[in-house]
Amino acid sequence: MKTISTNLDQPNMYYRISLLSLLFLIFNSINLSAQINTSNDTPLRVIAIFAHPDDADFKMGGTAAMMAEMGHEVKFLSLTNGNAGHHEKGGGVLANIRREEAKEAARRLGIVEYEVLDNNDSELMPELHIRKDVIRAIREWNADVVLGLRPNDYHPDHRNAGKLVIDASYMVIVPNVAPDVAPVRNNPVFLYMQDGFSKPNPFSHDIVVGIDEVIDTKIRGLDAHVSQIYEWGPWTGGRLDEVPEGEEERLEWLSESMFSRGVSEAQMEGLKKWYGEEEAAQFRFAESFEIAEYGHYPSDEEIRMIFPMLGQ
Ligand SMILES: [Zn+2]
Repeated sequence: MKTISTNLDQPNMYYRISLLSLLFLIFNSINLSAQINTSNDTPLRVIAIFAHPDDADFKMGGTAAMMAEMGHEVKFLSLTNGNAGHHEKGGGVLANIRREEAKEAARRLGIVEYEVLDNNDSELMPELHIRKDVIRAIREWNADVVLGLRPNDYHPDHRNAGKLVIDASYMVIVPNVAPDVAPVRNNPVFLYMQDGFSKPNPFSHDIVVGIDEVIDTKIRGLDAHVSQIYEWGPWTGGRLDEVPEGEEERLEWLSESMFSRGVSEAQMEGLKKWYGEEEAAQFRFAESFEIAEYGHYPSDEEIRMIFPMLGQ
């Protein structure tokens, strides 16, 4: 039987290990600290990765629309096809409906692409083959910025989608992992989209974007997800009988439920940091982002490049 040598007493073995560690550290410090692409003629490439076709629309539809308007290339990627999100429809029929709704939402938000992977809704697990799909997606998009969900959330798909993105955050620069797609040259910035969960740790409103000027665009983006906004969501909330019939009336109903959300105290603190007290006080709608501790940690200057709406 073959045995693996574990003899670390040899001095040259120590030397080889520490040399490897040193090379590893140098390699990482180059890739992890590299600046994001800042040249004016190349747009920043942003990808949001989440569990269901509509997650990012709720959490950052306004910011995505503004980013797209300001020249960034924005992609949404749903890791499941949403085929469990309905009380009357399901399976392939529902998956196809939701894929079409996502495509329409992308058109309304002005983003480049809304891809929906074919994993089953409510069954997403942090499996290696999906991690590799996430790694490939980030590389193929040549992402400067990756937005994901935090791994603490009520929905197991959200938790696992968050874990899959975080599990990919370092591997995207490692050539031997998923070697069929070349690694990104620089580790992207990883950010979390907002949630309201406080255990084990509350969301940190590191970056807060005022979205008043695109609130109608955000609402129209959500309105594209008919099966969710006007059917499944109200059904789970016991409010199906409140949903109006006509298109215009529905849009108004949706606007009213969005309008009631407002800006939280924590968001206002973030708005003040990025916009100044006077401008911050005028916002009625905002979307927040937390800087993940993985990937390239952005400076304030880089954050203003990623979120050009924050101004200088
Ligand atoms: Zn979801």
